[in-house]
Amino acid sequence: MNKDLLLQRIAREIADCRACRKGCTGLPVPGEGSPDARVVFIGEAPGREEAKSGRPFVGRSGRLLRDMIGGIGLREDEVFITSPVHYLPLRGTPAADMIEHGRDHLFRQLAVIDPAVIVLLGATACRAVLDRKVEVAKMHGSTARSENRTCFITLHPAYALRFPKAKAEMQADFKKLKRLVRTLGS
Ligand code: URA
Repeated sequence: MNKDLLLQRIAREIADCRACRKGCTGLPVPGEGSPDARVVFIGEAPGREEAKSGRPFVGRSGRLLRDMIGGIGLREDEVFITSPVHYLPLRGTPAADMIEHGRDHLFRQLAVIDPAVIVLLGATACRAVLDRKVEVAKMHGSTARSENRTCFITLHPAYALRFPKAKAEMQADFKKLKRLVRTLGS
């Protein structure tokens, strides 16, 4: 079966998944982008704008992320953007069991796409993909391995929006990411 259909199947599973919806609200946000993406960006969980539209990263932090993606010469339609939690948590931040459950759908998306680089946007993405707590403030700009894949750790854009210093750090990380993608991405 082709990759597009496999991703659509996972999106339908997310839409039908009662466990995913537990403690959450709004439309499912399964992620979007190219099934052949060489770079996959992973956030945390949808916010209000995303839960209204069903699309990832379309609010304020999404605009910053999408600007940064464009800034390193990648088109939105050649990357894939997703998150470990696919519905808006009622409490705002996802609980540990939501992240644990969402990993299953997320890892299946990654298995289909088979990207060269996975960009982990903040601590929740690190927890979900690397299965451990990462001090993102210290580790951002560095790489890690998950199931033989290269992961790049950076800050979550919502955090970067709150602190100008963090935004500058994230921009510096994206310059490193550009070099990494050039090395691994073809
Ligand atoms: N934050 C995320 O982590 N994901 C989104 O889709 C939006 C905001």
